[in-house]
Amino acid sequence: MAEIKFKCSECDFSFIDKNLIFYINSNLEDLESILNSSSADLELIETILNKESSDEMTKSLISGFLYENYCPHCKKLIRTYVPEANELFNQDEIKKILTKEISKNSFDENTFKILFFDFKKTLYRDRRNILENNNCPNCNNEMSLVISEKTPCPECGASLKEEF
Ligand SMILES: [Zn+2]
Ligand SMILES: [Zn+2]
Repeated sequence: MAEIKFKCSECDFSFIDKNLIFYINSNLEDLESILNSSSADLELIETILNKESSDEMTKSLISGFLYENYCPHCKKLIRTYVPEANELFNQDEIKKILTKEISKNSFDENTFKILFFDFKKTLYRDRRNILENNNCPNCNNEMSLVISEKTPCPECGASLKEEF
């Protein structure tokens, strides 16, 4: 899975789009106690998608895809979690567990978003459409949740170029 490097055409800003995924593991057995657990019993892992992590995703309680981009308005790094459909938990439960886990790792609670759409049944084009036409959880302005050449540089507003 390729990483894509974006570099600003004007300033020093650069960003690597890493194809990230996440999954949650737990040492608890029954679902009720997972839902109500203190987060010490759960572990949120964020890593690059490869064969190994893809297997871990399959074995985990909750897993999905992770996107990053800078909001062009408030300049914060916004992380978007898209959980995969899950037979163990419904969306509210996934949201509750995930929010607790993300908050544990993150300094600012307004810099992440949890989006639900059926990843496997959603065409790439439609997925990009949802992600690109979205809004910032921090300042509420329109932003793309994924970085691309269409996104302005978060430092100076100039255009970004893909580097190979
Ligand atoms: Zn720049
Ligand atoms: Zn913002």
